[in-house]
Parts: sequence; C-alpha cells; structure tokens
Amino acid sequence: ADLDELDARVSVCRACPRLVDWREHVAGVKRRAFADQPYWGRPLPGFGDPLPKLLIMGLAPAAHGGNRTGRMFTGDQSGDWLFRALHRAGIANSSIAEHAADGQKLFGARMISAVRCAPPDNKPTVDERDCCAGWLDAELADLLPWVRAVLALGSFGWDATLNAVRRAGGTVPAPKPKFGHGEIAVLHTPAGKPLTVIGCFHPSQQNTFTGKLTEEMLDDVMGRARDLAGL
Ligand code: SF4
Repeated sequence: ADLDELDARVSVCRACPRLVDWREHVAGVKRRAFADQPYWGRPLPGFGDPLPKLLIMGLAPAAHGGNRTGRMFTGDQSGDWLFRALHRAGIANSSIAEHAADGQKLFGARMISAVRCAPPDNKPTVDERDCCAGWLDAELADLLPWVRAVLALGSFGWDATLNAVRRAGGTVPAPKPKFGHGEIAVLHTPAGKPLTVIGCFHPSQQNTFTGKLTEEMLDDVMGRARDLAGL
C-alpha cells in the first residue's frame, strides 16, 4: 500500500522543468511507428515484486520506451534485451515486454530507475539526478529490508545505488568500489544485513550494437545476481 501511494505521488511530479518539457514534448510529437498510440509522458514508477530480493537499478526511462508505455524497460530495445535475460534466468514470466498490460511479471525482483523521467539524449543533469533522489530514497526505504542483491546497470545505476544506500544509513566500503561489468561490492543495509551490488553494462543500443555487451555476458551477470539474491 505504501508503494501504491508513492507511485501515485511520483506520477504527478513536475520538479525538473527540463525533463517535464522533454517527456511531454516527446509524448506530443511521438515517433511515427507509434503515432496511433497514447504516450504515458509522465514519471515512471518502479515495476515488479513489492517485496523484492533482487533490485534492478536503471538510469532513466527511454523517450519512446517507458515514456510511451508507462512501464520501465517496456517497448524498447534495451528492455527487450533485459526481459529476455530475466526470462532466461527464470525471473520474468515472459521474454516479451511490449506494453503495460501484457501480463509481464517479475518473481522476487523489482526494477527501479535513478531518474524517473525520460531525459534528452538519455542524460539527466546532476541537478536532475539529485532532485529525483528523493523518490529513490522513499522507495528504497520500503524495499531495503527485503533486498539482498542489486543488479546495477551502468556506472550511473552503480553510483546511484551506492549513494542511496549511504544516504539511507547503510554502509559502503571505502574507497568507493568502482563500476565494471561483473564487479561486486558488498554493502550493508541500515539494519546491518549484507547487500551485494553487481555491476552490469547497460543494455542500451550503444553497448549491444557494438558488442560491448553480449547476451552471454548479460546472462552471466543475471545468473549471478539471481543467485546472490537467493532467488
Ligand atoms: Fe520528478 Fe524525478 Fe521526474 Fe524530476 S525526474 S520531474 S524529480 S519524477
């Protein structure tokens, strides 16, 4: 119930003027292939299990993906990669995530993003990241008692996770562990329970088109994340 209330409050947030303009501009202009569809054009809530053992930390919604469908990693190529891997790992009930009413479900896992509105060029500013951190902190306060592992997508997701756990009163090793594909950092929650963060190259087209991230590499890290979470 707390998460539902949080989602309702997030969905009307207009704190970042540049992102509000962009998410609504994209929703008004649309991409030709989606011209007949309504666009969500608002902040995105987390998606998945409300009592997750595994958290998947993304960067921000894609303009014509989540910003269109209203659900994280749904309706774009990054999401296709991610959901296929989640399905192969037994964490998602289907390999396909096309729209918010497609019946997709995550088992013991939840997706969340560091910034909840689609940014131009997929790059939020530091101010926007800091502004949205309040929503991240509010959601994590509910989730952290359950979470055992975090799959951090890209260095942005990695840093957002470490910083949020520190703000929540948990502990992060010093010096701060560096992001890398397959890198591990062991944090502790505010209650003193171990929380393992595993880094994964973001499944953005920039990484998947160039072969920097292959499906095998994604499967490897996804399987380790699932095992670390005890799923
Ligand atoms: Fe609000 Fe976050 Fe969207 Fe900024 S990015 S408008 S803080 S929901």
